[in-house]
Amino acid sequence: MIRGLTSPIWPIHYKPLPDELLSSWLVRLAHGHGLKVQTFCNLIFGNNQQVWNRDIDRLAPTWLLGQLSYRTGAAPEIVWNTTLRAYEGLLYGKFRMSGTLPWILALKMYHRKREGYGLQFCPTCLAEDAIPYFRKRWRIAFNTLCLQHKSMLLDRCPKCSMAVAIHRVDMIRSQLTEITPVCCCHECGYDFRQAPKISISSYDHQALSLLLDANRMIHDDFREDQRWRLEHYEVMRQLCRVMTTRYKHVFLRKFVLEQLEAPDLPLTEGRISFEMRPIQERHHLVQLTSWLLVDLKPRITAAWLSHAVRYSVLLKDFEDAPKWYLEIARDLSNWRDRLL
Ligand SMILES: [Zn+2]
Ligand SMILES: [Zn+2]
Repeated sequence: MIRGLTSPIWPIHYKPLPDELLSSWLVRLAHGHGLKVQTFCNLIFGNNQQVWNRDIDRLAPTWLLGQLSYRTGAAPEIVWNTTLRAYEGLLYGKFRMSGTLPWILALKMYHRKREGYGLQFCPTCLAEDAIPYFRKRWRIAFNTLCLQHKSMLLDRCPKCSMAVAIHRVDMIRSQLTEITPVCCCHECGYDFRQAPKISISSYDHQALSLLLDANRMIHDDFREDQRWRLEHYEVMRQLCRVMTTRYKHVFLRKFVLEQLEAPDLPLTEGRISFEMRPIQERHHLVQLTSWLLVDLKPRITAAWLSHAVRYSVLLKDFEDAPKWYLEIARDLSNWRDRLL
């Protein structure tokens, strides 16, 4: 046992860095003590308390958060803010333990292996960090770019294409030191800081500008910007769903692509949620949706007049749709109007 691990405050008691994700912080704490992540967690939480067999950033148990606060001296609200529950009321209405959580990228945990591409990163952010760490906003599905570096995020290792799994990074290391960063691929050892910068692709200037605004809200510094609230994120997600719906006679994606004169992208087949799609697909869809949102009523009406979307589809499975969206959709409820 490392000396001091039983004392109330751990010898190494780093606080979370700005917007740091719980898992990233936990890995840094383990490495700070010169321990592998699994060893550290077994020592302090006991062998019976499994930590990494779930999406810890979403499902961190209260006892874990309590211990982290107690042992590092970080205020409980700061610890809580490292979890994805912090987005409750902003990106989704009510937190859920299981199933899809709107806008939160799925890890698709299977034992301790990750199959989903649920943690993104900006190579330049990592390269510029004095201590590289992973941001909470990199778990958000519509957040496909880095505002600071004007570049695309990556959702997998550029060398071996494996999903990022920072808690498994110890598997590639023989010698652990306090300064070994978490930003290496657990599979092939590639240092994510070396990844080439990919510039932001865009179909339409105004749509990109709207998307940037949607992203600004999830940067802690911009929380006072009230242009984007829960209802806007919900409408955006609903339209992303309609874009990929497989109903007959629904061609909204095709319609928008024609307006933008943009090529379509082959999308992953099957009934998968937006939160499970690779970053290129998400970036594509969220841009098309943003184009609609720039001027929603006339654009969705034009789509409807072209028989690209139906009233019932716009509202399908959309509980608690905001009034302004309901009104736009209801104006499209009478198919006879299309004949006028
Ligand atoms: Zn960046
Ligand atoms: Zn790799």
